[in-house]
Formats: sequence, C-alpha cells, structure tokens
Amino acid sequence: MPYRSPVGEFRFILDQVVPLAPVAATERFAEATGDTVDAILTEAARMCDEVLAPLQRVGDLHPARLENGVLRSSPGFAEGYAAIAEGGWVGLAGPQEFGGMGLPQALNMAVNDMMSGACLALQLNPLLTQGQIEALEHHASDELKALYLPKLISGEWSGTMNLTEPQAGSDVGAVRSKAEPNGDGTYAVTGQKIFISWGDSDVTANVCHLVLARLPDAAPGTRGISLFMVPKYIPDANGAPGVANSLKVVSLEHKMGLHGSPTCVMAFEGATGWMVGGEAKGMAAMFTMMNNARLAVGVQGIGVAEAAYQKALDYAVDRKQMGAIIDHADVRRMLTGMKADIFASRSIALACAVALDMGRATGEPEWQARAALLTPIAKAFGTDVGMAVSETGVQIHGGMGFVEETGAAQFYRDVRVTAIYEGTNGIQAMDLVARKMMDGGEAAFRLLQEVEDAANAARAARPELADLAEHVWTAAETLREATEWLVRQDVQDRFAGAVPYLRAFARVLGGHFHLKAALAEAEAGPRTALARIYVTRLLPQFAAALDEAKQGAAGLYALSAEDLAA
Ligand SMILES: Cc1cc2nc3c(=O)[nH]c(=O)nc-3n(C[C@H](O)[C@H](O)[C@H](O)COP(=O)(O)OP(=O)(O)OC[C@H]3O[C@@H](n4cnc5c(N)ncnc54)[C@H](O)[C@@H]3O)c2cc1C
Repeated sequence: MPYRSPVGEFRFILDQVVPLAPVAATERFAEATGDTVDAILTEAARMCDEVLAPLQRVGDLHPARLENGVLRSSPGFAEGYAAIAEGGWVGLAGPQEFGGMGLPQALNMAVNDMMSGACLALQLNPLLTQGQIEALEHHASDELKALYLPKLISGEWSGTMNLTEPQAGSDVGAVRSKAEPNGDGTYAVTGQKIFISWGDSDVTANVCHLVLARLPDAAPGTRGISLFMVPKYIPDANGAPGVANSLKVVSLEHKMGLHGSPTCVMAFEGATGWMVGGEAKGMAAMFTMMNNARLAVGVQGIGVAEAAYQKALDYAVDRKQMGAIIDHADVRRMLTGMKADIFASRSIALACAVALDMGRATGEPEWQARAALLTPIAKAFGTDVGMAVSETGVQIHGGMGFVEETGAAQFYRDVRVTAIYEGTNGIQAMDLVARKMMDGGEAAFRLLQEVEDAANAARAARPELADLAEHVWTAAETLREATEWLVRQDVQDRFAGAVPYLRAFARVLGGHFHLKAALAEAEAGPRTALARIYVTRLLPQFAAALDEAKQGAAGLYALSAEDLAA
C-alpha cells in the first residue's frame, strides 16, 4: 500500500497529548480552531498521498541534473511543487500581512511531517523557504520584506541558506566569503559555498539566497559575519525577476540518498546582495532561520520514520515464512518499537512547536526558554528515530530490504543526512548541555517538574497505570539529579556526555507523552499497550545513557590519536 498521511495521529496528539487548545486561545492564533485544524490536515494529507508520494521514487531514480549550467529537477517535481505552492502550504505559518495564513507552527510541523513522509527530497525546498520567511520577517528592512515575503510565501520564489564553505562546516565562524559595499546601499558578494540544498531550481521563478559573508575589516569568527539576500534574478522595478545576478551552480554533489534534492556547489562572483539584520549581525539573523529549520529537520526524520514504518508493516502482513511474519515475536518487537518511537518523537517535536507558538503569542520568557530547550532535542531525537526506524524497516523486509525495488532502503539512505545537516546531532547535543543550560538548568527543571507532576496525577487517576507512572517519575527524578550534576561540570566534561544526555532526556519525555496518551483512554486500549511497550522496553535505555553521560572527558583522551591508529 502507498503512503497514508497519519491525520488521525496528529488530531489525537494535538487534542490529548500536546494540546493545541491553549495556542488557539491566544489572540494571535485565534483562527486555529478545531475546524480549521481538521480542514488543513485533511487537505494537506490528500495532496501528500495523491501528488507527492508518487514522486518519492522518481526523485531517487532520476536525480536532479545540471545541463550546461542549467538545473533540471526530477520529473514531476515541478507539478509536485506547484501543488504545494497552490495549497498555500509554504506560507501556512507565514505572516498574514504578506499573504501567509498566520497559523501556528504546531500545525505547520504536522503538515511538514506528512510532506516529508511523502517525498523528502521535494519537501526540503519549502522547508528552507519557510525558514527564510521567518528570518526576513524578523530581521529584514521593510523594503526587502515588501519585495520578497509575498513571493516566498506564495511559493513563486524559493529560499536557500548559504552557510557552508569547504573550510567552514560546523565551524561557521571560519566563513571567508566577502561582501564589499557598492556605495549604493548594495554589496558585491564573492565566495564559494558548498552543499547548498536547492541552490538552483526550475520549479520556482526565482531562487533567493541568504548568504553569510564578511565585510572588509570584519572581526574574526562569528562576531564578524553579516547576512545578505542575494537573488538569482535581481527583481526589476515591478518586483518581477529581472537581470541574472553574478552567481552560478558549479556542480551537484553525488549523494548516498536524497537524490531528488539538488545539493549545489555555488560560486558568487561579485553578486549583488542586500544586507539583512545589520553589520556583523548575520549570525543572529541566520539563527532565526536555523532554529526554524532545526525543528523542521527533526520533523523530517519523523516523517520518514512514519513512511518506513508503514511500508514495513504492510510487508510484515503479506510476507509468509512459517505463517505471516507479523505473527513472529521478534517482528512484533521491531514493529511495536518503531511505532512507539515515532509517537514519542512526534510528540516531542509538536511540544516544541507549541512552546514556540505560545512564546510568540504571549511573549512569556518561560515559553521561549521551553522552545529553546526542546529544539535540539526535537532535532536530534527526531532524526535519530528516522534513522533507527528506517534501518529496522530494512530488517523487517529481510533480503528484500537490501534490494532497491521495495523502497525500504531509500528511506534509510534519504534520512541519513538529517542527522548531519542543520548542525550535526553532536552539535545539537552540545547546544543542549551548554547554551541551553546557561540558565543553570532552570528550563530543564521546570519541564521535569511537569513530567513528575503528570506521573503523580496519572497514578492517582488510574491505578492500573501506577507501574508505568512510577517508571516515568523515577526516570524524570534521575534525570533531574543528573542535570544538577551536569550544570556543575566544566564544558569539556559536559560535551563528552552531551549526546547520551540528550538521548536520555528524549527517552524521559517520550515516557511522559506515552503516559498522557494512555491516560486519554477511558480504559486500557491500544494507546495504553503502546505506552507499556515504550515505558518497559525503550525508556530503560535512559539509565545507561545517563551513566555514559556522567563519565566525563578524561577517559576519552586516555587513548591518544597514535593509540587509536595503532
Ligand atoms: C545533503 C546535504 C545538504 C546540505 N544542505 C546545506 C544547505 O542548504 N546550506 C548549508 O549551508 N549547508 C548545507 N549542508 C552542510 C551541512 O550543514 C554540513 O555538512 C554540516 O553542518 C556539517 O559540517 P561538515 O560537513 O563540514 O562536517 P564537520 O564540521 O567537518 O564535522 C565532522 C564531524 O565532526 C564533528 N564536529 C565538528 N566540529 C565539532 C566540535 N566543535 N565538537 C564536536 N564535534 C565536532 C561533527 O559533529 C561531525 O561528526 C548540507 C549537507 C549535506 C550533506
């Protein structure tokens, strides 16, 4: 069976587990009523299932190509993109004054999840545009906003992010691209960028690059970086794409997956650019785009996990080996674990989106801190789940999983990059234990208190959930103690345990949300059974992860680089 968007799952989570109701109760998001949510989810799902899902395999078999410097995207992608733009999905959360729907990120992320499951390579295009819309909304001049936002929001033009250079990957501060003032308020941008997703496109009329570069005499490191809007075609007096700018795609990367998304080496040769966010304020402006994209990339992992799970489930029902393989205990173990992890990661991502929405609607710092805390967890855990679930999907297919025709392997190949781009998952974990703990762990403690209170409430409300509630409470308490320890460590010791700490945090939050799902049932049903799978089989991993997180850095350096080579 082809991909089916999990509309009912979003309805359930946004009703019962991570309620959207408080968001819809704010003035800013008053339009996000139950009817609107239903209509959006149903309509987006129809497009994903009918238009985007058939393109998934086409993009893999017929990658984007560069022909005499002209980009040709995969067959059918132009029509698929047109459906996304016409549906208004690029601007779902975009500002209404520029043509967006102004709806909550929580709803936007639900739609992104479905689009990612249907066709990841194409979905990466609107994902980047959405991030750019947010960066311009917050940091661009009124003139730039008026010129670019309506076109980006309608999907006529697309947006990219240009950070990476050969010597500047995770170390963005090493960016060397230059921007010289032209004397008329514009800048001449020169430099090479690598790995630029959708760096050119024949599915939109213009491609708008947000480029990190340095002004002459800029300070070294991230402090000296500015941000520029550098369009492929310079808009004319009427705002239509005019003369071609001095930039080109030099080549496309050959990748292990995500073939339908052109990954470009870009050359900017004195290209005309407009500054966004002020001199040397480029990183702050780019961070707006990156934070949006980090959550959205976590959601990509979850969307792919959903699609890989559906395919594996269909196969397990059909395939007979001493009976249908779905009836074998080990296959059940794999399928239930996949489903439990998808639910956990999806709830975490939506909780992050709800916190973002509440932060924006109320301006309350506690919501903003909650969103900031959850962003690296949602990104890294969502993409870890994407990788693990698609890998298990291959296993469930047996030998057929290793054979490309089934499509199981494509999910695995495509999703692999989500743990790498938008800041590797290692960088996300370091962000969690350093920047996000600069409050001494306050935001983390507040969240863990809610987890413990909810576990106590569950125990009181439903005695048959008492054992599950006990597990979740104990895990949260252990994580709270580990966090108290963590914030007292020096940064090197924190970094040495950052990835396992993040994983432990995600595991505990997953337990919390599964417990809420179980509570939503009047009596023990499938949600409770799934919660039991998660809490008894997957949640216990938090303890081993925390043990590892507390080992510190010294032991890692007890083996020298020479020892590692011996
Ligand atoms: C398909 C694809 C699409 C992409 N799209 C874009 C795009 O649209 N725009 C864009 O600007 N970039 C894009 N990128 C680039 C991507 O964001 C980078 O690859 C990523 O940030 C990692 O940088 P790097 O590849 O240089 O790896 P490196 O930074 O060299 O990292 C290598 C390893 O070292 C680790 N590491 C590095 N520094 C540290 C540190 N300080 N502490 C601990 N560990 C560290 C990393 O976690 C990683 O495991 C894309 C990449 C790919 C593959």
